Amino acid sequence: MNDTASTYQERYAASLMNTFGPPKLVLAKGVGAHVWDADGKEYVDFLGGIAVNALGHAHPALVEAVTTQLQTLGHVSNFFTTAPQVELAEKLLDLLGVGAGGGKVFFTNSGTEANEAAFKLTRRTGRTHVVVAEGSFHGRTMGALALTSKEAYRAPFEPLPGDVTFVPFGDTDALAAAVTDRTAAILLEPIQGEAGVNVAPDGYLAAARATADAHGALLWLDEVQSGMGRTGRWFAHADVTPDIVTLAKGLGGGFPIGACLGIGAAGELLQPGNHGTTFGGNPVACAAGLAVIRTIEDDDLLEHVAVLGQRLRDGLGADPRVAEVRGEGLIIGLDLAGDTSADVVAAAQAAGFILNNPTPKRIRLVPPLVITGDDVDALLAAWPGILDEATR
Ligand SMILES: *Cc1c(COP(=O)(O)O)cnc(C)c1O
Repeated sequence: MNDTASTYQERYAASLMNTFGPPKLVLAKGVGAHVWDADGKEYVDFLGGIAVNALGHAHPALVEAVTTQLQTLGHVSNFFTTAPQVELAEKLLDLLGVGAGGGKVFFTNSGTEANEAAFKLTRRTGRTHVVVAEGSFHGRTMGALALTSKEAYRAPFEPLPGDVTFVPFGDTDALAAAVTDRTAAILLEPIQGEAGVNVAPDGYLAAARATADAHGALLWLDEVQSGMGRTGRWFAHADVTPDIVTLAKGLGGGFPIGACLGIGAAGELLQPGNHGTTFGGNPVACAAGLAVIRTIEDDDLLEHVAVLGQRLRDGLGADPRVAEVRGEGLIIGLDLAGDTSADVVAAAQAAGFILNNPTPKRIRLVPPLVITGDDVDALLAAWPGILDEATR
């Protein structure tokens, strides 16, 4: 690390709260799926800002949309609306298959805020009980944290909002046993991202739908990480109609925006005075969301994601030191034979690749949807050497 980078590391330590640990790198610029650190070293970014930079870095369509909107009208408050806000709401409802009129949208600035909105919405059923999966991650604000299973995240902040039951992810019977006539909602990630990519077993979401229906509860799917094209489909869930879908991460391609979608009657539960936000739904963030969606459509990125995801999973999993490969499209989790994920991430970084280790055994890849075949092949070529280095 040169002087500039080490100086910023020191200044970071002196002036930023230590919630994330020391930064791994001081990054200076990015183009596509590539970033450069303050020393000028180049990396291929297989983390994509944690599934956020859907169009990679500095994508012309996103730059143009945000710049033009900011030059035209940047913020107006929710006493007013704008064309980008209405158009993005309609577009999201279209992508979900319910269409404008088939649901309603509340815009936020982040995933945890989308889940806060949804949590409050569920309270408007007159019920308070929520059933959530073990391994879940729904955010760090107090409400979303109450719905997040990881003990280390929760314990320092208890008491959290209560009446939450955790059940093993993927276990249909455990879910059915936990839900009662006083349950407001079942909350699930179709693919658990922070846990290291756990894909819901076939039939699990349909069973959750049936259980919710049997008890008059809402089915709430958190697609903050798995949604917006990441799986090679617009949403990771299929063949079920949820009552609530929450989105963020890839939605704005790096510009902060989240959304809580209420489908059918669930879209009517929050009424005037029940919820609010100053920044949520501002025209710049909504223009960013529209640009992301338009680019995914115009450039056929869903197909691209499916093809490159398969190539990555096949290639990475071919090494015998990889015990298991999970995921769909470009949300990929690897289980290593031992607790070596931190060493693998460090070796990858030294070799010019940014990976992520959500658990001691697991590697996660959630690269930009625009990542190229050459970028993927570069990682696959380096992969055996990275594992050699990590396990030496
Ligand atoms: C990241 C994430 C969140 C929280 O989003 P923030 O923007 O960090 O608040 C919520 N749910 C899921 C599934 C996530 O992956």
